[in-house]
Amino acid sequence: MTSASERPLLFLDVDGPLIPFGSSAGQKEVAAASSTTVDQGNPLLARLDPGIGARLTALGCRLVWATTWMEEANDVVAPRIGLPRLPVLEWPDADAGGTPRGLHWKTRPMVEWAAGRPFIWVDDEIGDMDRLWVDAGHPGPSLLHHVEPAKGLEDADFRALAGWVDAVAPR
Ligand SMILES: [Mg+2]
Repeated sequence: MTSASERPLLFLDVDGPLIPFGSSAGQKEVAAASSTTVDQGNPLLARLDPGIGARLTALGCRLVWATTWMEEANDVVAPRIGLPRLPVLEWPDADAGGTPRGLHWKTRPMVEWAAGRPFIWVDDEIGDMDRLWVDAGHPGPSLLHHVEPAKGLEDADFRALAGWVDAVAPR
């Protein structure tokens, strides 16, 4: 039986995957209209899908915030989508060499955090350099899953994520 500590990691971005940048259409417009009183001045939070936390949890991964929201993701995002407080990927220390040109600031710390364990990265800013870096420096399985920022995480994304998890770490 696979223990919880052996489940794949899932590094999760907020802006784009959870907060789509597209124009408020359809249900998102309804959500925005109904939740303005709890947004505490940040209208972007109205774009969060309250049910998305359960769908992420159902993937059976160990979730880690990988977002410029940092600890604020735990304070204002997690409670709105039904997630517990999660560990937070730290911005790299400039003294430690900074970030090579063309590489996302998250990529190196994610590979270090994973330490060879299977991981998923869900983000709208994944580039070629990031894929090369992970291929070269991460010996375990990885899935760098790009999300269309205008739409956010959709059914097709969840199918792709679940398919990868089932193949890499069947339960
Ligand atoms: Mg983003």
